[in-house]
Amino acid sequence: MADHTSFKKKLEGKVAIITGGASGIGEATARHFANHGARAVVIADIQDEKGQLVAASIGVHRCNYIHCDVTDEHQVKSLVDSTVRTYGRLDIMFSNAGIFHSLDQSILDLDFCAFDRLFAINVRGMAACVKHAALAMVEGGVRGSIVCTASVVSTMATPNHADYIMSKHAVLGLVSVSQCTTRRVRYTGQLCVAGGHCDAVVVQCAHVADAVVFLACDESEFITGHNLAVDGGYQPR
Ligand code: NAD
Repeated sequence: MADHTSFKKKLEGKVAIITGGASGIGEATARHFANHGARAVVIADIQDEKGQLVAASIGVHRCNYIHCDVTDEHQVKSLVDSTVRTYGRLDIMFSNAGIFHSLDQSILDLDFCAFDRLFAINVRGMAACVKHAALAMVEGGVRGSIVCTASVVSTMATPNHADYIMSKHAVLGLVSVSQCTTRRVRYTGQLCVAGGHCDAVVVQCAHVADAVVFLACDESEFITGHNLAVDGGYQPR
């Protein structure tokens, strides 16, 4: 993991939204964005108390919390609109909110209530965030960066967790179709495995956050539509 004290600040002056920012990868990324000089980091989540605590710990002048359920497009639009109204622009959308539930289903025993709930967050919610962030960036003339959290299972399959795996394959599709549409905006799907998924590989939230900082900063401005594996070699290439 990067030692941020010895690094050039990569996000000086940028305005960012992080969905699912109240915990895990989103929380770690909010802290990294602030450490890298972001002017404003807006944490969007449904866990209000946790989100407010994270924002307060980063600092009221740099970070604020907005309740946003990504399954509701109106809430997503209002999140983006209020960020642009308050800070004048949107440079970075880290579309990260997602769930992995414990129903260990194969295609043969798929529960479609659980399927719909998971897709509403992991696919439709992510698409709503990409849509409204891209609209704001295009309207504002900002060459921004939109990073979506996919998974190591976006490019592989196992018999179980069928709905989750399908949803993470869809995130890569979302990045591809978005990239064809508005070339001023950069879209990146990001693959990751985090702690606990594999004995040999423990990828921590901060490893993923380091990669998101890179994908969000100007130094990666010619990287778009790419899927960056942050998996410590979990998946041989
Ligand atoms: P996490 O549970 O710590 O964080 C997810 C956050 O999303 C939570 O704060 C949660 O409240 C929020 N959220 C859930 N539903 C929401 C909704 N409807 N609207 C807004 N926010 C909502 O988990 P994490 O591991 O940090 O996961 C972040 C992303 O990383 C997810 O997309 C997940 O699929 C992906 N991912 C995680 C792993 C892993 O091993 N942790 C591996 C691969 C991919």
